[in-house]
Amino acid sequence: MAGTIVRADEEKLGDSNRLRSPNFKSEETFHIRGRPIPPKANLDLMKQWMQFCGSEHHECRTPTLTVSKTQSIRLIDVQEHKIILTSSAKDYVALSYVWGPTTAPLLTRETLSQYSATNGLKDAIIPRTISDAMGLVRDLGTRYLWVDSLCIVQDDDDDKKQQLPMMGSIYNCAELLILAATGSDAHAGLYSTQNTKRREPQPIEEVDGIPFTTAQPPAQETLMWTTWNRRGWTFQEAILSRRVLIFTDGQVY
Ligand SMILES: [Zn+2]
Repeated sequence: MAGTIVRADEEKLGDSNRLRSPNFKSEETFHIRGRPIPPKANLDLMKQWMQFCGSEHHECRTPTLTVSKTQSIRLIDVQEHKIILTSSAKDYVALSYVWGPTTAPLLTRETLSQYSATNGLKDAIIPRTISDAMGLVRDLGTRYLWVDSLCIVQDDDDDKKQQLPMMGSIYNCAELLILAATGSDAHAGLYSTQNTKRREPQPIEEVDGIPFTTAQPPAQETLMWTTWNRRGWTFQEAILSRRVLIFTDGQVY
């Protein structure tokens, strides 16, 4: 798709859906309507994608794995800025990202009680990718986020023994996965699309009143060269998730 000229009309959700069809053939790309990628991530469009998926995709609605009812998981409550421990089913979003060498463990036996109190996370030094994800969960109108470094007690072997085997189910049961493929550590943030230096130029030309632009590379191609894609554990996080918003240096997919 890179370098393909597309009509820069408003993207229709039906057309974007056709891109993912298993019957998709390369010659069809000529007929696809694209859209210019705005300098800032488009929250309304992400909400539209979520609504479209919720109403049109039966296969995305039901998890194939379950989190054991006898075991509890921790979630970040982004409204009350704290960590909760819950065994009841809650709609939550999960984050897949790369810690990087300089990211310190966040939830430890020492910080557990502080972070579990209301507003306990407000003064915590949280890496930008995680704090951006917390903000996005709020902006999408949801409340709970699962992030490994804040939902597993990192210096507690018993907690790890209980939580780590559940990670496949935790990703599969999440209503949405935020996949942070930007940068090479947890400090990169989700929104490097706002840094124009890291973006492919996207000229728009009008011919006979019809705007044309270049299509940005497809998600698979962009992901291939990211640090995120070089980590083994991210494979299960992406493959077991039912809905994924992919944040790359160029755009959100
Ligand atoms: Zn879907």
